[in-house]
Amino acid sequence: MAYQLRIPAILLLFGCLACDDDTGKNAGNTGICTDLDGLQTCWNTGNTNNQGILPVSVNVNSGAGAFLLTAFVTGDAYPSVEAIRSPEGSRELYWDDWYTSDYNLTAGILPLGNEMMINWPIRAEDPALSAGRYTVNVAVIDTEGYYQLGKSVTYYTQVKQDDSFSSGTVQARIVYVDDLGDNATITGATEDAVAIWRAIWSTYGLTLSVDYDTRPEVDAAIPSMTEGSEDISEISATGTDADITVIICDTVGGTTQIYGESGGIPGTLVEGRQSAVALSWITNAGGDGTFSTNDIQVYGETLAHEVGHYMGLFHPVDFNGNRAQYWDALSDTDECNTTAACDASLGENNMYPYPVCIGFNNCLDQQSLSTGQAGVLHRYTGAL
Ligand SMILES: [Zn+2]
Repeated sequence: MAYQLRIPAILLLFGCLACDDDTGKNAGNTGICTDLDGLQTCWNTGNTNNQGILPVSVNVNSGAGAFLLTAFVTGDAYPSVEAIRSPEGSRELYWDDWYTSDYNLTAGILPLGNEMMINWPIRAEDPALSAGRYTVNVAVIDTEGYYQLGKSVTYYTQVKQDDSFSSGTVQARIVYVDDLGDNATITGATEDAVAIWRAIWSTYGLTLSVDYDTRPEVDAAIPSMTEGSEDISEISATGTDADITVIICDTVGGTTQIYGESGGIPGTLVEGRQSAVALSWITNAGGDGTFSTNDIQVYGETLAHEVGHYMGLFHPVDFNGNRAQYWDALSDTDECNTTAACDASLGENNMYPYPVCIGFNNCLDQQSLSTGQAGVLHRYTGAL
C-alpha cells in the first residue's frame, strides 16, 4: 500500500500545551453501549495524556472472538495504534514491529488521516481473545510527527460475541448513488456480480447477506476513500453498526482507472467519512458501458477484493515497477519477487493487486483465498 505519511514519531520533550493529566478518564467507563446481532458497540470520548497517548479500554467477555476500535480526531492530527495489551498485561501488538516492515499487518499502526481503525486479533497466529480488559494505546501526532497532548478523541469499540472462525455471515449494504439505481443494466450486472462474490466467499465458510438502497442526491463521482466525504458519512449512517456499506458510483478518486477502493484496511462498521467501499461501475464494465460475461466476473471479484480489504486483507504482494516491495503478513501466501513470478503463483488469488489478463476479455479467475486469508476475514468483527 502507499504510505502517505511515513514519518518518525518524535516525542515532544518540552512545553505542555493544553495538558490533560486525567489519564483515568476512560478507565471503568463503558460509555454508551448498544447490542445488535451479537455485536456490542460502545461510544466514548477521551483526551490524550501528557505523552500524547489515549489508553482505550476494551471489555471482552468470555466467548468473544474479536474487537474493532475506530478513533476519530479533528484538525491536523493523526491517530494510530502504539500497542495492544491483553488483560494479563502482555503486549500483543507493538507498532514498531511493523511500522517499517516489508510485511503489512494492519493500517491501524499508520498515522494516515483523521480516522483510525484496528481489528484484533487479525490472523490465526495472533493470540485469541481472553476475557477481561484489553488496553489499546492510541497515539495522536501532528503532520510533523509531534505527539498531540490533551487532544480530544472520539472512539467506538465493537466486540463480537462469536469466536467461531470457520463460519460467519457478513451483512453488506449496496447503495447506488445519483440515478444509477434506475439503470437496469447497472443493477442487473451488480446483482450478477454479487452472485459471483457470494460464490467466492461460500467456499471459505462466509455467508453474504446483501441489501440494496439508493441515494439519488449523492453525486456519482466519489472522492478517494483515503479522504472520504460527508456524503459517505451520511450514507453509512443510515445502515446498522453491523453492516458494511458498498457504494456503486461512476468514478472513485476522479479517475476511471480505479475499479474500487476501500475506506481503510480494515474499514469500520460505524459511521464516518471513510466508512464504505466504493466501486466504479464504469471501470468494472470495461469502460464501454456494457457488461460482458468477463466484465461481470471481474466486477464480482472486485466486490470480494475490495470488501476483503475492508475486512483487513492486504494484497499478498505489492510491486515497485516489476519488483515485489511489500508482502502481506500471512505465511501461506507466496513470497514471490517479480511480477512474472507472482502472476504465476498468485495470479488467481482474489487479493492480487490487478487482474491477470491474456489479451482482451480473457482474464484469469481470481477467486481463491489462502487459509490464512480466510482466517483474517473470519476474524473481522463484522463477520458474525
Ligand atoms: Zn486491492
